[in-house]
Amino acid sequence: MQLLSNMEHLYLSGNRLEYLPPVILTLRKLKTLHLGGNFIDSCPSNISVLTSLTVLYLGGNRLREIPASIGCLYQLENLGLCDNVLETIPSTLGDLHYLETLSLHNNKLRTLPTDILNLRRLQQLSLRNNPLVHSFVHNMDLAPPSLKELSGRSVRLQRTPNLEEVLPTDLVEYLNSACQCVNPECNGVYFDARVEHVKFVDFCGKYRVPLMQFLCSPRCSAGIPSVDYETSSESEEEIEPIMRRVLLG
Ligand SMILES: [Zn+2]
Repeated sequence: MQLLSNMEHLYLSGNRLEYLPPVILTLRKLKTLHLGGNFIDSCPSNISVLTSLTVLYLGGNRLREIPASIGCLYQLENLGLCDNVLETIPSTLGDLHYLETLSLHNNKLRTLPTDILNLRRLQQLSLRNNPLVHSFVHNMDLAPPSLKELSGRSVRLQRTPNLEEVLPTDLVEYLNSACQCVNPECNGVYFDARVEHVKFVDFCGKYRVPLMQFLCSPRCSAGIPSVDYETSSESEEEIEPIMRRVLLG
């Protein structure tokens, strides 16, 4: 296959490949690579050498993760990662500025990197059958906060001065590790206990995009004002998405 160095399209879907054959990485002119429906359980990070790729289909494999180097395939227009067991996707997907179609359905994604909002050309994003979209109840489970957490929250909220002088260093460090609740109505803080809540956010009035919120308590989820990305984002003028379809079901 090394002699076929001018090959531009390669279809190897529906075989029994258990890994991506290294020789493929020598085919530097490949524009289309289909490897769907195999038994591939990892994607090598040096796939980044195939910089001519516009279509990469890895759907229907056993991938648990995608290397961050995929962000180097800067010409990609169509990326198929559906029907795997992905729990996360790298934030570097946000570097694929020509990406038009991103298939992520039938995985185990619980959250998406906000960087995908950089994909200005993205027209289709499929997300169905991921924990992200089909059951939010689990995300609302909250183990009872520890007494340390509860007292820490109370101390932080009262903003008692000169704590460094009266408390041991480890407690001061703990208090300084508090995270701000994302609910703008709340002003609360949390340490280790939090509610992870998926919220569908209006995206410029046209789309509903799932984003993960970290709240201080289950009660905090009520009455959260809708986040308007056009007005709340610091890069307001930069966001001009043309996303046409977000497939959630
Ligand atoms: Zn809160």
